[in-house]
Amino acid sequence: MADFTKKYDVLVVGGGNAALCSAISAQQSGASVLVLEAAPKFYRGGNTRHTRNMRCAHDSATETLTGPYSEEEFWDDLLRVTGGHTDEILARDMIRQSKAILPWLAEQGVRFQPPLGGTLSLGRTNSFFLGGGRAMLNALYRSAERLGVEVAYDAEVVELDIDGNTFVSATVARGGERLVVHAANLVAAAGGFEANIEWLKTYWGEAAGNFLIRGTPYNRGSLLKVLLDKGVEPVGDPTQCHAVAIDARAPRFDGGIITRLDCVVFGIVVNKRAERFYDEGEDLWPKRYAIWGRLVAAQPEQVAYIVFDSPSLTLFMPSLYPPFEAGSVRELAGKLGLDADRLAATVDRFNRAVRPGTFDHTVLDDCRTEGLTPPKSHWARPICTAPFYAYPVRPGITFTYLGTRVDRESRMLMKGGAASANMFAAGEIMAGNVLGRGYAAGIGMTIGSVFGRIAGREAAANARN
Ligand SMILES: Cc1cc2nc3c(=O)[nH]c(=O)nc-3n(C[C@H](O)[C@H](O)[C@H](O)COP(=O)(O)OP(=O)(O)OC[C@H]3O[C@@H](n4cnc5c(N)ncnc54)[C@H](O)[C@@H]3O)c2cc1C
Repeated sequence: MADFTKKYDVLVVGGGNAALCSAISAQQSGASVLVLEAAPKFYRGGNTRHTRNMRCAHDSATETLTGPYSEEEFWDDLLRVTGGHTDEILARDMIRQSKAILPWLAEQGVRFQPPLGGTLSLGRTNSFFLGGGRAMLNALYRSAERLGVEVAYDAEVVELDIDGNTFVSATVARGGERLVVHAANLVAAAGGFEANIEWLKTYWGEAAGNFLIRGTPYNRGSLLKVLLDKGVEPVGDPTQCHAVAIDARAPRFDGGIITRLDCVVFGIVVNKRAERFYDEGEDLWPKRYAIWGRLVAAQPEQVAYIVFDSPSLTLFMPSLYPPFEAGSVRELAGKLGLDADRLAATVDRFNRAVRPGTFDHTVLDDCRTEGLTPPKSHWARPICTAPFYAYPVRPGITFTYLGTRVDRESRMLMKGGAASANMFAAGEIMAGNVLGRGYAAGIGMTIGSVFGRIAGREAAANARN
């Protein structure tokens, strides 16, 4: 039972992967640890609940990984996706320490499975959790509790007392009450601010009102805001985030992976004006999937429609919801609320621009358009065989990158550059140190586990001094 009157060595705020890795690591290092999770127990674990895999460097194939993935290759991948917008020292540290993460997680009872097929060609680089993110989390909670970590649910930290660069206490909103908890050290592992639509609006304007949030409604950035207001140095561009195209009928929060749509390569994508706006055949997954959220965010009313015909229907992972279906393109337009003449003209123009080729969606094939703006560079086939289908899509925000700057000990840095005396951060809340922009599948969990372990260990060491 959590005892709010006790002064713990380490207070961990958050309840996902980063928080649990921090808590376990701190407790294993001899500290007393309290975890405060804003969500009720059933919804514990933030965005981590939705995950499937993580990316770690390793020297050779294993039972569940098809081959080696060197530190240098991981670094090259990170450099490419971020375009160099990363802190090289922290990123290289993370990659090196990622090598020890899989066996450490296995010691905590997390189990892995062989790679999944389908659209995810990650079998060499990424380890998949047996039972998904929720099973992974349950194993971490069991391990933490066995070690003696105390956990309180429905416990949102809403205020901090920070004296200069030193954490003193946290105010917790719990069941209508406000309680003050003292601890010798703080680990902030409370995710990003993606579920706070009002905060998103300050950077995206009213458009953010049409965004859907793929994960937990509890990542409202309440802790991040307090930390930044109280002198912690921010890191990351507030408009940068991981965003994909998801089914527009998904719930506002927590739609998870089953609402994601990755069938743009099989058809064309049009906006409310029934006009195409980007090359649907630009690149292979996973390079393409994380750009469509932003592309749709820039369209009128932040909505778009993926239009395709019957030969493509069974070639991709379906969404939770069925596609709209019609016997003609005009009829389809009616069902989508689009101008029928315009959609028919857009499809016709596209069909006439398609050049013959050998269709293969697993490689950059030679099926392309000619004389069309924007072009479709690969996988272009005429949309001409009824029934015709469409999925409506909206931007689905996965997580934001604005966070707290940290050093190699995962210790927060204050404005002006001084290290905090006793405040550490791990996971999404500091992901912007490594991810200035872009994303490599599975790296969110790497950031949480590696920096979580570091933060917990360092916070415990600090408590002993
Ligand atoms: C649908 C989906 C699929 C994904 N798939 C993958 C994947 O396969 N691989 C991968 O690497 N990444 C994936 N990600 C990203 C991944 O989920 C995150 O990078 C990772 O889970 C972050 O871990 P975290 O512990 O930092 O945050 P979270 O797991 O989100 O945990 C944050 C916690 O903080 C709590 N909290 C927030 N504010 C407060 C407060 N003020 N007081 C107390 N508690 C608070 C929340 O309730 C939550 O429990 C996915 C994300 C989504 C949404």
